[in-house]
Amino acid sequence: MKNNKLKLTFHGGTGGVTGANFLLEENPPAGGGKRILVDCGLFQGGDFAEDKNKEQFPYDPASIDILFITHAHLDHIGRIPKLVKEGFNGVIYSTPATMEITEISLIDSMGVLSKEAKKKGIEPLYNKEDVQKTMSLWKKVPYKTQININNNLKAVFKDAGHILGSSLIEFEFTPPDGVGKKIVFTGDLGNSPTPLLRDAEEIKDADYMIIESVYGNRNHEDIDERNQKLKEAIENTINRGGALLIPAFSIERTQVLLYEINNLVEDGKIPKIPVFLDSPLAIKVTKVYQDRIQNFNKGVKDEIAGGDDIFKFPLLEFTEHHQESLKIIDTPNPKIIIAGSGMSNGGRIVRHEKTYLSDPNSTLLIVGYQAAGSLGRKLLDGAKEVEIMDQIVKVKAKVINLTGYSAHRDSDGLLEFVDNSVETLKKVFVVMGEQKSALFLTQRLRDYVGVDAIAPKLGESFEF
Ligand SMILES: [Zn+2]
Repeated sequence: MKNNKLKLTFHGGTGGVTGANFLLEENPPAGGGKRILVDCGLFQGGDFAEDKNKEQFPYDPASIDILFITHAHLDHIGRIPKLVKEGFNGVIYSTPATMEITEISLIDSMGVLSKEAKKKGIEPLYNKEDVQKTMSLWKKVPYKTQININNNLKAVFKDAGHILGSSLIEFEFTPPDGVGKKIVFTGDLGNSPTPLLRDAEEIKDADYMIIESVYGNRNHEDIDERNQKLKEAIENTINRGGALLIPAFSIERTQVLLYEINNLVEDGKIPKIPVFLDSPLAIKVTKVYQDRIQNFNKGVKDEIAGGDDIFKFPLLEFTEHHQESLKIIDTPNPKIIIAGSGMSNGGRIVRHEKTYLSDPNSTLLIVGYQAAGSLGRKLLDGAKEVEIMDQIVKVKAKVINLTGYSAHRDSDGLLEFVDNSVETLKKVFVVMGEQKSALFLTQRLRDYVGVDAIAPKLGESFEF
């Protein structure tokens, strides 16, 4: 084969929203070219996810030269220590915030993984040494700073607007005896404009695009509507004297909620009531946000420059330690409890749900994507009773769904993103969505944008 081709293989992130893992090879199989991975995430949710994570990688980890990471969600980073444990010894590149949040997340998830492994009498996916080795291979690269992989291949991180540090990755391939092309991995695309982050950068000249499709078949409420609903949920909780439970993802969603509650309190739009951030992980991540304000959008930077600590307001308490968490129940209602996990399939929120779901004056506010099979999904679907910690709990609390909080772009937004590159695009690969979502977006891209779009299958390869 001539020295002018790339091969892209989908080793994860197909037929589901998790397990991102894409292999980009330069002039295979002749050799001499680089072997590059983009993301190395956990498969999450569903019955077979755990088994899939334990399976051997379908390539030799030692043969990979570089691993690029789009952002620090577990479905994009969760199998990196396993990759390292099994021989990967190359360089890992990401933005600085992605590296910092990754380290926190990997250490945090180790606890869950080792508990699960112990229950089943098997080895955990990785251990602390694997995480340490992983972090030692990492190189931080700021946004918009070119990485020269070799003479023919360059890469750059650009804002994706999804979570702090999130990036889309643009590869530019200019072979000496072939036609140059630009390949763009969107990672997860933010629902720009968002309260805290800069907007995702528009890409106008991609030849090939690998795009997420979590919300490929749905559109979101707009931000004003969502703000109003949050305010109403808090007011109702105060009027009825209940507890407002918000299962929140620790990265981005929690910080956006804190920021918006901060604004409601400081603008006098809601009375001051106790707010608990009851998640050690979210508390650690919030500290990274506080340190990385240069990644925020201009409006938020101005507020901070004006003296507002956007993650601090009266009666807000960070309950990092278990004992503090147990005492939340002693604080009389009304109160707000923000805790992980975001889908209620673990974490401290579960204990609060056990306590308050049977109270008709309390409210469960769902602010994020709920995977099939999760407790959160059951509650969202209107279950009248659920089993929590070996106990049947009647659901009498109000359950409210706020879709506008999604950190993902909706169907129309994804279409628009692709449309920006319509002049140059040769093919779009639709990944990271449940099958019906990915297929729906694929069809819309063909019909409305008029591009060649495909939802690849696991293990499928393409050369261009
Ligand atoms: Zn993500």
